[in-house]
Amino acid sequence: MTLIGAKVAAAKAVGTVVRAAGRGGGTSLPGKVLTRLEPHAIGILARRLAHGSAVISATNGKTTTAAMTAAILRRHGETLVHNSAGANMAGGVASALAAAARRGGRELDGELGLFEVDEFWLAPVVQELEPRALLLANLFRDQLDRYGELEIIADRWAQVVDARAGAGALVLNADDPLVADLGRGQEALYFGVEDDSLALAELQHAADSKHCRRCGHPYAYDAIYMAHLGRYACPNCGARRPEPAVAAHDVQLRGIRSAAFTLATAAGRTRIELPLPGLYNVYNALGAAALCLALGAPLDAIAAGLHEVAPAFGRAETLDLGGRPTSILLVKNPAGANEVLRTLALEGEQLDLFGVLNDNTADGRDISWVWDADWELLAPSLRHMTCSGTRAAELALRLKYAGLAAGRLSVVPDLPQGLDAALANGDGPLYALPTYTALLELRDLLARRGQVQGHWR
Ligand SMILES: [Zn+2]
Repeated sequence: MTLIGAKVAAAKAVGTVVRAAGRGGGTSLPGKVLTRLEPHAIGILARRLAHGSAVISATNGKTTTAAMTAAILRRHGETLVHNSAGANMAGGVASALAAAARRGGRELDGELGLFEVDEFWLAPVVQELEPRALLLANLFRDQLDRYGELEIIADRWAQVVDARAGAGALVLNADDPLVADLGRGQEALYFGVEDDSLALAELQHAADSKHCRRCGHPYAYDAIYMAHLGRYACPNCGARRPEPAVAAHDVQLRGIRSAAFTLATAAGRTRIELPLPGLYNVYNALGAAALCLALGAPLDAIAAGLHEVAPAFGRAETLDLGGRPTSILLVKNPAGANEVLRTLALEGEQLDLFGVLNDNTADGRDISWVWDADWELLAPSLRHMTCSGTRAAELALRLKYAGLAAGRLSVVPDLPQGLDAALANGDGPLYALPTYTALLELRDLLARRGQVQGHWR
C-alpha cells in the first residue's frame, strides 16, 4: 500500500466508526482526517482523475447546479467523483475523493471530478485540484456574520482566477457584475438571460452589488432579472455586461412546478424543459449548460440531462403530508428568498405558508435579512401563514409589516407542533419555507414520521 493509501484507509476507518456510532458529520469527517494526515491529499488524489475535474462555486444554487451538471455529464458517458451530499468545504471534497480511492489510493472509481465548493474555500481547493473548468455563478449576501463583505469574497475569487490564468476554462455569469468582472483580461465563457419580459421594474431591496467594480460609480440597468443580476453598464467608466455566448431566450416560468427556455449557444439552439421552478433554476441550468459545453458535452446530452434532474430535498420537492401536497423551499438569504417568493406568487391566490426561521450558527445568527426580503410581494396572495422556529415571532412581525392581517398569522415556535398546526389549518397545497437548520430538522421529523425515506442527498 502506498503512503497516501494508508492515510486514505485510516480516514475511511474513522468515517466508518463515526457512522456506526450514529453520530452526525460523517460526510466530511474522513476528509478532515485525511487532510490532517496529508495536507495535499486533495491534489494527490485528484491527479488520478483521468479526465481532470470541474469546480462550481456560488452563493446560491451550488448543489442544484452540480446535480444538473452531473446529470448532463453522466448522459455524456462520464463517470464522476462528486461531493453530491453537499459537503463543500475542503473536508467534503477530500471525503469524496477518499471514498472513490481504490488499490491503496493508486486508482479512483470515476474519471472526472465534479465538486461544488463553498465560496470561502475556493482558493485552497482550486489550488489543490487545478480544475479543467471553473464555474463561478453568483455572489449574494449570505450569512454575513460568517463571511464578511461580498466584495472581500469577490477579491479572493479574483486572486483565484488570476493565479490560474489560462489554465483551464473559466465560466462566468455575465448578468452578475461582481462575477462577470472576474473575467476582465481573461478568456471566459459567459452565460446570461436574454429575455426582457422577465425584467423587474427596479432594483429589489436585496440587490447586493450596485456599484461598479472598476470605478465605484452606480451601475445603470437596462433590465433587472433578479437582485443585482441583469443587463448593466457603468455610465462613468463604460464597463458593461459581457455578451453571453450561452443564453436563455423565451423563458417560461410555470409556478413552483417547472420552467422552460431556449438555450442558445455557439453549437446551436435547443428548447430546455426543466422540472424545477423559478428564474433562479434557469440560471442554475444555464451555468450547468455552459460548464458542460466547456467540458465538451454536446447539446443533446445537455437537454436530456437537464430534463431529468430531480429536485434535491428542500429545493421545491413536493411531498404528500396527510393528504396535503407540501412543497418545501429552502430560504437562506434575501436574494434567494425573493426568488422563492416571486415563484410562489405565480401560484395564484389564497396560499397557505409554513415559514420556519431559525437563528442557529449554520443559518447565520443575524437574521436581519428577513427584513430585506420582499415579503410584500407575497402578502396579498396569502390565506394563512404559520410562523415557526427559534425566531418565529420575528418572522410574524415581518409579515405583519408586509401587510398580512394578524388574523391570518399564527406563531408556533416548536417545529413539529408548527407543522401540525399548519397542516390542520386549511386544505390544498401547503408551502413550507425553512431556513437551513430548519430544513434539516424538518427532514429528520418527516423521516421519523415515516413520511420520507431516511436517506437524503
Ligand atoms: Zn465604472
